[in-house]
Amino acid sequence: MAQLNLRLPENAPGELFVDETCIDCDTCRELAPETFGSTSSGQAYVLRQPPDESSWRRALQAVVSCPTASIGAERSAKEAARDLPVQLEGPVYRCGYSAESSYGAQSYFLRRDDGNILVDSPRAAAPLLKRLAEMGGVRRLFLTHQDDVADHAEFRARFGCERIIHRDDDHIGAEVRLEGEREIAAGVRAIPVPGHTRGSCALLVDERYLFTGDHLWADDRGQLGMGRGVCWYSWSEQKKSLARLLEYRFDWVLPGHGRSLHLAQPRMREEVEKLHRRLG
Ligand code: SF4
Repeated sequence: MAQLNLRLPENAPGELFVDETCIDCDTCRELAPETFGSTSSGQAYVLRQPPDESSWRRALQAVVSCPTASIGAERSAKEAARDLPVQLEGPVYRCGYSAESSYGAQSYFLRRDDGNILVDSPRAAAPLLKRLAEMGGVRRLFLTHQDDVADHAEFRARFGCERIIHRDDDHIGAEVRLEGEREIAAGVRAIPVPGHTRGSCALLVDERYLFTGDHLWADDRGQLGMGRGVCWYSWSEQKKSLARLLEYRFDWVLPGHGRSLHLAQPRMREEVEKLHRRLG
């Protein structure tokens, strides 16, 4: 539970606040961007108190989704807890309920006619498990890399989903181990992007949505970036993996950490090219 005595000084006055235990995972800023901002150190803070009920609802979704319980509010988040996953666009939903064991990585739920897909593992919170069951369950759990597996075993036990991960990142005994690029379902392609880890993979859906794990993300200003300071395997390989993404079309970048980005496909390509030039 967030603690008032640890309340960050940057918070706008009012009942909603972030305390100093925030680990800068971006979950709240993605769920309720109108309410949460970034301090100069990267931690989240309440930019402005929610002005109406719909903003409050999104803020309370962030309260239950914060992996470190760093967001406090006087009102109950019980109703908002049942909203998740929330639709982002078309078949794509944000799960919320980030897990501290994956450093608060964001995860996504994809509704598919041939079986729903979870992209990286959220916390196996009871309200989320119930909602996912109502939405048809989970047939596949795609794991972008070894760091964001969180509660994979609980999802496997609850839904019988097959866990899919690259063999070089498989420390969980996954049902499907990837070795190269592969279509894992109709219109759903796993693309190896080694760099952050040896077995990192992106997932491209319907040539529109690219789930990038910790390979690629956007910042608060909408600029794409990659992190050398969090590159555990090979920075030169990670840059090559970025260049390979130019072979594909997509207009969404949906990361585990950092901000998502939505641009028309020619603009997205320009942004990837720009980043590639910048990194040299
Ligand atoms: S959701 Fe993440 S960024 Fe937001 S307060 Fe919690 S730890 Fe910080």
